[in-house]
This record gives sequence, C-alpha cells and structure tokens, in this order.
Amino acid sequence: MNEMIKKLVDAYGEKLIDNRRYLHAHPELSFKETQTAAWIRQHLQAAGIPLLTGIHGNSTVGYLKGSTDGPAIGFRADIDALGLTEENDLPYKSQHDGVMHACGHDAHTAVLLAMAEILAQHKELIHGTIYFIFQQAEEFLPGGAKGLVEDGLMDSLDYIFGWHVSAMDTVGTADISSGVRTAAVGTYDLKITGKGGHGGSPHQCNNPIIPAAELVSAINLIPALKCDPLANCTVSVSNLICGVAGVDNVLPETVVMGGNIRSLNTDVRDFAMAEIKRLAESISAAHQCQCDVHLVYGYPALDVDAACAAIMEKAARETGLTVEKKNPSLGAEDFAYYSQKKPAGFVHLGLADPTGVHAPTPHHNPSFYIDDAKGLPLALQFILTTYLLAVKELNTKQ
Ligand SMILES: [Zn+2]
Ligand SMILES: [Zn+2]
Repeated sequence: MNEMIKKLVDAYGEKLIDNRRYLHAHPELSFKETQTAAWIRQHLQAAGIPLLTGIHGNSTVGYLKGSTDGPAIGFRADIDALGLTEENDLPYKSQHDGVMHACGHDAHTAVLLAMAEILAQHKELIHGTIYFIFQQAEEFLPGGAKGLVEDGLMDSLDYIFGWHVSAMDTVGTADISSGVRTAAVGTYDLKITGKGGHGGSPHQCNNPIIPAAELVSAINLIPALKCDPLANCTVSVSNLICGVAGVDNVLPETVVMGGNIRSLNTDVRDFAMAEIKRLAESISAAHQCQCDVHLVYGYPALDVDAACAAIMEKAARETGLTVEKKNPSLGAEDFAYYSQKKPAGFVHLGLADPTGVHAPTPHHNPSFYIDDAKGLPLALQFILTTYLLAVKELNTKQ
C-alpha cells in the first residue's frame, strides 16, 4: 500500500507545494476567507467533486462516494489566517499586509485539496463516502467547527480525522495519542461598580478595589480549593484596571478585570467559570458593590478516539514517521466540537526544517516557517494512508 500511495503523491507533484505557497501569499482572516473559499470551490468543482449543500459561511464540504459500501469519513482542514504581518523574506510571503498564515492552515488546506483531487481520479480507493471539509475560522470564537456542527454535518459522518502542523517539531515526526489532547477554554470579563469619592471620606464611598483585591485571591484559589485535586484546571487574572496612576486622593467608581480559564476537562472548565461568576457577585455584594460578569465559553476539550488514534499511528509508521507521545496541550482547537459528536482522530505532524537552517518557530509568530517541500508530501502520504486504513478497519456505525 505504501508504494502505491507514494506513487500517487509523486504523480500529484509540485502542485502540492505550489498550492500551499499560493494560499500562503493570499491569507485571509477568520470568517473573511471569501477568496480562499472561492479558490477551494473552484478546484473541487474542476475535479468533479460535488459540494454539500446547506453549509454556511466560507466553509466548503466536498464529497465523493465509492462504488462499494463503507463508512462515511470526514477529513478536515481549517483555512483561516491570523492578524499579523509576516517578517519572513520568502518569494511567497504574504501579500496581504497585517494578515499571515502563521499557524499552517495553508498547509492543511493544500494537503486536503490534494487528497480530494487524487481520490477523484482514483474512485476505486473509496469505500462508502468521503467528505472533504474545508472549515472557516478555527482561530476566532465561536469557531467555524461549531457552525458546521450546527449545519448538521456530523449527522452524515461516522468518523472524522484532522491534523495540525507543528512548526516546533522536525519533519518526520508525528505526535499521536488517544484521549484528551487540547483544553477546554473560556474567558471572563467583569466590572465592579462601587461608589467613588474623596480619599479622606472612605466611609461615604464603596471602593471597588477592595472586592477586586479579594476576588484576585479567590479566583486563583479555585483550582486548589474548589476543583478535584486529580482534575486539571488553570485560571488567570490577566487584566485589572482601576483608578488613575498618580491620582491618589480619589477613590475610583469602577474596576474592570478579566482573564482566562483552561482545563483538559470541559465540565471542570464550566464549573470554574460558574464559580468565578458566583465569587465575583457575592464578594462584590459583601462590599456593597455591583458586579456584572460576562463569560465566554470557548472551545471544549478535544477527545481523540482510541480506534482513530490507532489507525493514525499505524498510518504514521507505514509512512515512515517517528511516532511520539507528547503531553496534551492547554491550547485549544475547535476540532473538539466534532469529537463531541463522532469518533475523531487528530494528530500533530512535525514540519520544522530538519537541516536546522530555519530554526523552529512558534506558531502565531511573524517568522512562522514550515519546510513544506519536505513535509507536505509526507503529510499527504500519511493522510491518504489514514483513509485507506480507516475504510479497511472501521465499520459503518450509523
Ligand atoms: Zn493557531
Ligand atoms: Zn492552527
């Protein structure tokens, strides 16, 4: 199987890299990927791949049916870029000022399109139905995945797979594990309103800094005192704004503060957020202040199915990748919404330059760099192998 897939990837040729570089040069922000979506739809239609109707926004889902029965399997690529200015000096550097593919979603898109175009030419490899999911807005809440779930996409699927580049790990490595891989996240913003006044008459005021100060401690104690010690949770106070620097005889009227919550358990995240609201309101009330709390529930935790992970691990080994088992990350990934609905497989593939000429760069960095020429053919080989193993080993569950 390995040789056959390698031949398909070789035959697809330079188009894989050319497409990734075209997308890299033409990045678009989350929920604004109209040109990218048009480019994807045009390529899918040219390849004779029908588009699923009822999909909203800039997301696009193409599908192909095989002549034999088999599971309905989706493969997802996110298509959005980030709001930063590229600092790389590359012939294909971003042509859009202030927008850059600094997370590798251009690579995801190019690989998924290649997979779709190859399978459109080799329908004998398809069993059941395969869905090519080009998803808008992974980087920006509420996330494009949520919309696709609301569009009913997951009702059509038995399984879903996805992958993410890792610019910090060398080409040839794959981080694959089952279980929770990324965190459930949330943010809070609150405003405590007291009564401002003269520093000489505190008894005539309700200084909101007093409950705010208590609240900072109370929020930070939530993981230690309120969460199961075996669970994992981190809460932060990230901003706290009150009073005017240098104006020392005025007690302020309001305090605003905010921060974020992360846990590998979505229920724990939900609990910690509710607890922040309860503490903020009750501590403020104890000091005769009013508190308005705004909670934003971000992506849930991404839970990778054991059977899907096993298939991806086998595919990685068949592709010649080195499988690593890293700790889960407290980063977030909206692919998690899919994993709440159907068995899901998700991995990170290393795409850092193995020669070290380009040092590994963090994601969301203006110098973000991946070795597409070496890494993308391997990624394409890996994802095609994943599909062929999945149709062999996974049953139709619907
Ligand atoms: Zn990102
Ligand atoms: Zn990303």
